[in-house]
Amino acid sequence: MLISEIFHSLQGEGELTGVPSVFVRTSGCNLRCNWCDTPYASWNPEGAEMSVAEIVRQVESFPSRHVVLTGGEPMVAKDIRALAQALRESGKHITIETAATIPPEGIACDLASLSPKLQNSAPDSKLFGALHDRHEKLRWRPEVVRAWIESYPFQLKFVVAQAADAAEIQLLLRELGGNIPPEKILLMPEGISPSANRARDEFLIEACKLHGYRYCQRLHIELFGNRRGT
Ligand code: SF4
Repeated sequence: MLISEIFHSLQGEGELTGVPSVFVRTSGCNLRCNWCDTPYASWNPEGAEMSVAEIVRQVESFPSRHVVLTGGEPMVAKDIRALAQALRESGKHITIETAATIPPEGIACDLASLSPKLQNSAPDSKLFGALHDRHEKLRWRPEVVRAWIESYPFQLKFVVAQAADAAEIQLLLRELGGNIPPEKILLMPEGISPSANRARDEFLIEACKLHGYRYCQRLHIELFGNRRGT
């Protein structure tokens, strides 16, 4: 499978923020977010072909029990299910970071970090007509999100770029149904620098206070900047 990078760092987002983890970043994605912070694993997928055994060997060379399968979109990666199973057999805690457009179908997973994309993610329709249409058709699949939520411990993380996004999140949650505890809903600022993230804090904090959602920081940006391998 095509692997963009494998590295050891601290989890920067979500309920496991700060937990040392090995990140396996698969290359390739079925979406094309305009603000994607890993274009080398989506818009222009780069990497090296690695077998499941090679990936597991590299993961095991680090001391952490926590492993994060991320991308790109890890669920489109060939052999992702075999990789998750092999990591489970080696005793790892597996977080899968996914946009939740592809059903889990029993994949080995201990924390489903689901990040469905909002309207703010759509690529420019004038520049990328076909990609825009495909992105818009694919990005919100409530039946798939539900399949993940019903099968695994989860967090539901939305990337927020503007105050109006809070209303869209409310609509999507209504469509999803199921009385999701508000503290399972994470709002994360869209931005790849501490200053860009701080600029979104005011409306983000207000939305969290109003609805009971959890504020999701991006610790890796604060600690290391927007750099590969962190
Ligand atoms: S889903 Fe994630 S990896 Fe894919 S384009 Fe969007 S931000 Fe990038």
